[in-house]
Amino acid sequence: MAKLILVPTPIGNLEDITLRAIRVLKEADIIYAEDTRVTKKLLSHLEIQKKVIPFHSHNEHRSLDRVISQIQASQNTVLVSDAGTPGISDPGFLLVRECIKEDIAIECLPGPTAFVPALVASGLPCDRFLFEGFLPQKKGRQTKFMEMANEQRTIVLYESPHRLVKCLRQICEFLGGDRPVCVSRELTKVFEEYVRGKASEVLKHYEQNPPKGEIVVIIGKIEKERNGKD
Ligand code: SAM
Repeated sequence: MAKLILVPTPIGNLEDITLRAIRVLKEADIIYAEDTRVTKKLLSHLEIQKKVIPFHSHNEHRSLDRVISQIQASQNTVLVSDAGTPGISDPGFLLVRECIKEDIAIECLPGPTAFVPALVASGLPCDRFLFEGFLPQKKGRQTKFMEMANEQRTIVLYESPHRLVKCLRQICEFLGGDRPVCVSRELTKVFEEYVRGKASEVLKHYEQNPPKGEIVVIIGKIEKERNGKD
């Protein structure tokens, strides 16, 4: 029976590939990849020789019919993105939805994704959270911040280093400079860094130390002072 298997790949540290992911990549009939060059490097590191076919966001809609036919004609089709879990701020969702419509079995292996370590290590509540991924860059960005102002759950954002300072300024403006924030940078890599503090303090840090690399921003709610009565 035809199957689509989503395989998470490391977000930095190559040791984070799972044994199961390696086996599934070895057994795949077809590997679809967001960027074939990135995936070929990983496969070569794992000493796996397979044909890799491009599957990226700008052709996700157009290529669906062709990809579905290929999946139906195979047993094990794998989808990988450049890093982390396919479908999480990466191509994958449309293909999964189409496969379900076509009665194609779906498996998603557990594995690397940036927001889980960023959230858990932030020290902010991770029992309930809102994953917003990348905010719109222009139109709709302010509206998103206004919507987040009353959010009680911890908020998770993906952000580029060029927009981090702007993002922190907007957090101060729309959510308040006292909001607890944790910026995780370069997770699992040599220069992994967590900067925790009030939004205004974290903003000041990055105004003075312009960031590089990949970034997750975690925003907590204002904790009420405990007065011991409840
Ligand atoms: N599919 C990926 C996942 O499962 O996390 C996300 C892909 S998205 C295109 C890339 C964004 O994820 C980066 O801009 C950054 O916000 C976040 N990210 C990926 N790797 C990261 C890392 N090593 N450290 C911090 N953030 C990372």
